[in-house]
Amino acid sequence: MSTTWHILGAGSLGTLWATRLARAGVPVRLIVRNPARLASYRAGQGLTVVEHGVEQTYPVIGETPDSPVPIRRLLVACKAYDAQSAIAQLQHRLAPDAELILLQNGLGSQDAVAAQWPSARCIFASSTEGAFRDGDWRVVFAGHGYTWLGDASHPTPPLWLDDLQAAGIPHEWATDILTRLWRKLALNCAINPLTVLYHCRNGGLSAHHCEVATLCAELAELLERCGQPAAAQDLHSEVERVIQATAANYSSMYQDVANARRTEISYLLGYACQAAARHQLAVPHLQQVHAQLVAHLLARGLASN
Ligand code: NAP
Repeated sequence: MSTTWHILGAGSLGTLWATRLARAGVPVRLIVRNPARLASYRAGQGLTVVEHGVEQTYPVIGETPDSPVPIRRLLVACKAYDAQSAIAQLQHRLAPDAELILLQNGLGSQDAVAAQWPSARCIFASSTEGAFRDGDWRVVFAGHGYTWLGDASHPTPPLWLDDLQAAGIPHEWATDILTRLWRKLALNCAINPLTVLYHCRNGGLSAHHCEVATLCAELAELLERCGQPAAAQDLHSEVERVIQATAANYSSMYQDVANARRTEISYLLGYACQAAARHQLAVPHLQQVHAQLVAHLLARGLASN
């Protein structure tokens, strides 16, 4: 019997992973916030995934953080700002050699988790899959993509990649996972905050070409300074390509603000500005966009961290 996957967070990505693993017959348990959420979950049939308009429901076992079942493998599917505190609730259940698979976007939350649980193996992930919730315990699989997984301190891939293969989760073991996370962070910093400030789709940034170019120049210098030259390569041309290719889309940060949800700003633009300060690198345009974004969020009553 293979090791059980505990999924922490029944949101978009957590549900997407839980349903695919369950479909492949891999043992999965879903950890929800509290007894009230567990009662709501148990009142239904399980977790539903909607793909190409077809719904499928899987009766994944649900539990609360204080269940006594020990945890050897934990897929952390919370937002970056919740990851550390959500794992802390499971402290008493984590095996000393537990594996933590961290799906969080941006940077900062992964290091915080790794520092707090030094004996756990922390696997970082970067995903281009897209999913959103269209109801409680339901997810729409909106964008097929890829997930890169890697461990900055051990290059050996874990054996459970076979579970992902069986579950049809497209993935690749990436020994350069930090470079990938930095690159994604830089793309995000060059596009998402401006879409919020200009209130536009990604394509709307074609009208702000100079501003995008200036941010890319600062981000590329920052990546070099942080020891990530590969992530800096051709950054501006890739940002322009992404703006064209996703012209009709609203960025995830735009959608968070439009739906009055907390953003992951501290793990994206906030992280970039802090890294620049640590390296004593002047990034005046990134700092200006950060300050404008913070003011924008506060004016709407949203958290600025
Ligand atoms: P999400 O839909 O908001 O799901 C997060 C889930 O975590 C929510 O269900 C939340 O519960 C749960 N949670 C938070 N604290 C918890 C706790 N203490 N105990 C139990 N559950 C807890 O977020 P998401 O879109 O899946 O994103 C997760 C991460 O993946 C983010 O860093 C995001 O940037 C990244 N990502 C997402 C996508 C995507 O397409 N969605 C793509 C790539 C990367 P409640 O429902 O009770 O609030």
